[in-house]
Amino acid sequence: MSFDEALKDNELLKQLGERMGFGSLMTMAAHFWRQKLRLTASEGAEYTVGPAAVLTTPCGCSRPEHCDWCCGCGWLTLRVKSEKNKRRKK
Ligand SMILES: [Zn+2]
Repeated sequence: MSFDEALKDNELLKQLGERMGFGSLMTMAAHFWRQKLRLTASEGAEYTVGPAAVLTTPCGCSRPEHCDWCCGCGWLTLRVKSEKNKRRKK
């Protein structure tokens, strides 16, 4: 199932986010994911909740899943994007 297909068929998750707040939902999901990974000594591999979207800018990479800058999310803080651009010019 693609991510787009999963979005269409997930009313329960949407209702949960509306009820408890989407930021809380994401933070709790990261917390529980971390707990799960701790059991397998893989703690740290979980996704984390980042800054508000308004504080980010598109990474500009063509394949986010292979990008060391955005780590697959496709978004960077303005400061990180500035650093990326500086290193590109060198
Ligand atoms: Zn990227």
